[in-house]
Amino acid sequence: MLRVATISDDTEAEGPGRRLALWVQGCTIRCPGCCNPEMFATDRGTPMTRDELVARLDRARARGVEGISVLGGEPFEQAAGVTELARAAKALGLTVMVYSGYTLDELHARADAAALLAEIDLLVDGRYDRTRPEPAPPLGRRWLGSTNQTMHHLTAAYRADDPQMRAANTVEFHYVNGQLLVNGWPAGADALHALLRKRPA
Ligand code: SF4
Repeated sequence: MLRVATISDDTEAEGPGRRLALWVQGCTIRCPGCCNPEMFATDRGTPMTRDELVARLDRARARGVEGISVLGGEPFEQAAGVTELARAAKALGLTVMVYSGYTLDELHARADAAALLAEIDLLVDGRYDRTRPEPAPPLGRRWLGSTNQTMHHLTAAYRADDPQMRAANTVEFHYVNGQLLVNGWPAGADALHALLRKRPA
């Protein structure tokens, strides 16, 4: 079982190629300026079974997505459920990318993180630091929010020198359950949410 905030079945804004992006619900890290503060609470979102999620993943695969990206919320705070999903994705021939607010060193120190780490092809790690926004490509790195974060290639599925790693960011806007989601541009999402909070009533 996984508590899910939202799913985009086919996006090009959250990792290489076309991907199913899944935002888990719940994050205790709470970085200032996080672009998804509505995903902090652990009692919101929708509980979904492994079978529901795998069926959805399989339909996305049939339409041509090449992998799953798991964001949040904090995937390692639901490590068991995300591990099951990642294993199912691998069994379907899909790649696995995960964004975590924990650093890889912190994750290596956690016994409950090892099984999920073993399934991940690409890991983006570290807190979002709004004081150090990642410049847009080609000066900066694609898919990263702040300069302290790192893209770890944990398998050979993707090459660090792949041109798509430095291509322009893709930004997508989704309005889901009354919430505006901005995919692919954390600093922009932070600025946009700050602007909306200042909006006159
Ligand atoms: S950026 Fe990630 S780790 Fe930081 S509060 Fe938001 S969801 Fe949590």
